[in-house]
Amino acid sequence: MSERDVMEYDVVTVGAGPAGLAFAIRLKQLKPELSVCVIEKASTIGAHILSGAVIETGPLDELLPGWRKSPPPICVSANQDEFWFLSKTGGFKFPVVPPQMNNHGNVIVSLGALCAWLAPQAEALGVEIYPGFAAAAPLFDEHHAVCGVRIGDMGVAKDGSHKPGYTQGIDIKAKITVLGEGARGHLSKDLVRKYDLDRDSDPQSYSIGIKELWQVRAGVCEPGKIVHTMGWPADPKTYGGSFLYHLDKDRIALGYVSGLDYQDPNYQPYEAFQQWKNHPGV
Ligand SMILES: Cc1cc2nc3c(=O)[nH]c(=O)nc-3n(C[C@H](O)[C@H](O)[C@H](O)COP(=O)(O)OP(=O)(O)OC[C@H]3O[C@@H](n4cnc5c(N)ncnc54)[C@H](O)[C@@H]3O)c2cc1C
Repeated sequence: MSERDVMEYDVVTVGAGPAGLAFAIRLKQLKPELSVCVIEKASTIGAHILSGAVIETGPLDELLPGWRKSPPPICVSANQDEFWFLSKTGGFKFPVVPPQMNNHGNVIVSLGALCAWLAPQAEALGVEIYPGFAAAAPLFDEHHAVCGVRIGDMGVAKDGSHKPGYTQGIDIKAKITVLGEGARGHLSKDLVRKYDLDRDSDPQSYSIGIKELWQVRAGVCEPGKIVHTMGWPADPKTYGGSFLYHLDKDRIALGYVSGLDYQDPNYQPYEAFQQWKNHPGV
């Protein structure tokens, strides 16, 4: 093993999702003199972000007050909420939308496109962003404190041997390491375990969300309409529900979320999504 290359920063952030990028932007706004880098395992920023999504605009208003003058490429104002309880062949629309489902003032975006739009704004403030860099492990100093991350080696075969394009991952050292890996990030999981960070927390609960983006025939899409459903095909003991977000240009983002504590051995999240798409109301 040759000695690894080392890069040094004041702050390294793992993950260029909404959290990592927003954090880097805010930090540079507050302390422009700090050197801040963000590493992202996807080959381009936003490429591993799949979510819907309807978002609240308050955080963007605070972070980038002028953002509405040049909004993200997909950004449709929410204008209609529906909340349905489905049975196998029918269902009913709740007369009132529960407060947490009320999207008045929110916008429908592509979260991947939103991240791709945030990244150059971070760079304009001096944040260095490196897509294609996957953090493989935290680095520790002599006091067992985190002092950066090691980037994974590239060009390693399944049996561990080095392929022709083998490149040793560099070490990125920093005074502060920020993990913005999203749910179930593997560095975060290791550090939660090592430092017992969840000792005062409830156990984590998980669900799986499956999403598709549909191009539909003209006239079907109602831009800004948001529909959520619960009930069928999940049985009453299974947490599950769907979303339909009407974008512009005859596109609809749709998906189905299943709690992973389902008890029915015959329940399959992907199958439930397929069944739901075939409901006459959908
Ligand atoms: C189907 C679905 C629908 C959703 N709908 C909505 C919605 O309508 N409204 C809403 O507000 N929220 C929604 N969410 C939730 C929302 O997506 C998350 O809350 C949000 O993306 C979390 O942001 P984050 O930056 O913490 O993590 P993420 O968005 O997960 O970003 C993490 C980033 O870190 C990168 N990364 C991970 N590990 C490493 C590593 N080791 N090295 C380098 N890079 C790494 C990933 O590639 C990714 O780019 C939805 C989620 C799903 C799955």
